[in-house]
Amino acid sequence: MEAKDIIEKLKSRSADEVALIERAFAFAQEKHENELRYSGEPYFIHPYAVAKTLAEMRLDTNTIIAGLLHDVCESAPEEEKKACEKSIVKEFGKDVAFLVEGVTKLGKLHAHGEERYLENMRKMFLSIAQDVRVVLIRLADRLHNMQTLSAVPQHKQKRIADETLEIYAPLAGRLGMGKLRGELEDLSFPFSHPVEYDALIDKIKERREHKEVYLAKVKYKLGEELKKASITVSAIDARVKHVFSLYRKLQRHNNNLDEIYDIVALRVIVKDIADCYAVLGIVHKLWRPLPGKIKDYIALPKPNGYQSIHTTVFCINGEITEFQIRTEKMHDEAEHGIAAHWIYEHQGKPKVGGQVSKSLKWIAQIREWQKESKGTKEFLESLKIDVFKNRIFVFTPTGDVIDLPEGATPVDFAYLVHSEIGNHCGGAKVNDKMTSLEHHLKNGDKCEILIQKNKKPSRSWLSFVKTNYAKSKIRASLEKNK
Ligand code: MN
Repeated sequence: MEAKDIIEKLKSRSADEVALIERAFAFAQEKHENELRYSGEPYFIHPYAVAKTLAEMRLDTNTIIAGLLHDVCESAPEEEKKACEKSIVKEFGKDVAFLVEGVTKLGKLHAHGEERYLENMRKMFLSIAQDVRVVLIRLADRLHNMQTLSAVPQHKQKRIADETLEIYAPLAGRLGMGKLRGELEDLSFPFSHPVEYDALIDKIKERREHKEVYLAKVKYKLGEELKKASITVSAIDARVKHVFSLYRKLQRHNNNLDEIYDIVALRVIVKDIADCYAVLGIVHKLWRPLPGKIKDYIALPKPNGYQSIHTTVFCINGEITEFQIRTEKMHDEAEHGIAAHWIYEHQGKPKVGGQVSKSLKWIAQIREWQKESKGTKEFLESLKIDVFKNRIFVFTPTGDVIDLPEGATPVDFAYLVHSEIGNHCGGAKVNDKMTSLEHHLKNGDKCEILIQKNKKPSRSWLSFVKTNYAKSKIRASLEKNK
């Protein structure tokens, strides 16, 4: 463990910043000197790992320093806590102290009982709206705690793993951090659902091995063709799907592995959007696409900002194979979500404050509600309705999942798919039958929106839509068309 392991991960830092990280490193190491982890290792391996994760996310220097210091005062004896906090302000400044305090305030979250759960989520979301870096430190903290979970006493393991699946992994997903979400879920899965985990690993072992060899062939073939077409490829990766997400998907498909085509996928990363579509054309020229499986999330990004083109084709030997095509920037954002947005927003600007990009719609939404709603209570209520309570999952005709509050209508669904689809929503089919726009969707429904070019939102929609997101979009459109 050395400060340079962290500093190495940074693309560029000034000499002052490097010196500051080194100082924080020594400070934390000294404060944790006599503490041990459950594994018997020095406690400092933990803040060290957290800071490294934050450096990999390419967050700013103050966040990395706060990662190093995040447990320093928490583990100090009660009577020294105040002095400890003061020394952080003095040594590392107000911004760092604010982050450390924020992480401590978020506290140890326990998902016991619904009320506690909601309360925890509220705290999380309020911190996100205030300064997202606090939550990123908490997530990096949880990641290392999950990586070292096997050393924790057995009776605590399941509770911690359940909590990770209930709170932290969905939160990472909401923040667009696909990589972190997958890691947290896969680390939790064996502790949270041991029987199901073993059964699934058994079931997919052979298939995974076969697919890995197979994808190497596909990768080679595609690489050749792209070269002929003079497309510069940054990377072609064969990706084995995360185990927990496969488990969830199997539950939706009657546990039938044959219905699931994306146990592995090939990811093609290129320079720009034009190349993405060029690659799509080449893939389709080589192999026949499956109808209804082409998803253009570049033209229509997912609500969490995710962008890529997905297609599934009858590939070599007729094996059904999924391709994901995206630019480097999209890839970075899909892996790091809000962290990547945060960096793009702050490049070349003073590195203070934790505001995130407006392009991450979902976070912008929370901000909007917070501004619109008069009191904290109303804001919390709207959060409760929109974000946490009694969620249902409704499928698009192409099999994407849109997550909605209970009682949501096709109009809510339409706005979440895309605001333009909401604005031109002329009718709806639920499970292939025509329904009214007021219809209450149920978990597992398939919903299709019929678009009418000249259709405009009606004031009456406000009386039945459930989500604040749809409400605010309808209001905005009514205002515009006045
Ligand atoms: Mn910690």
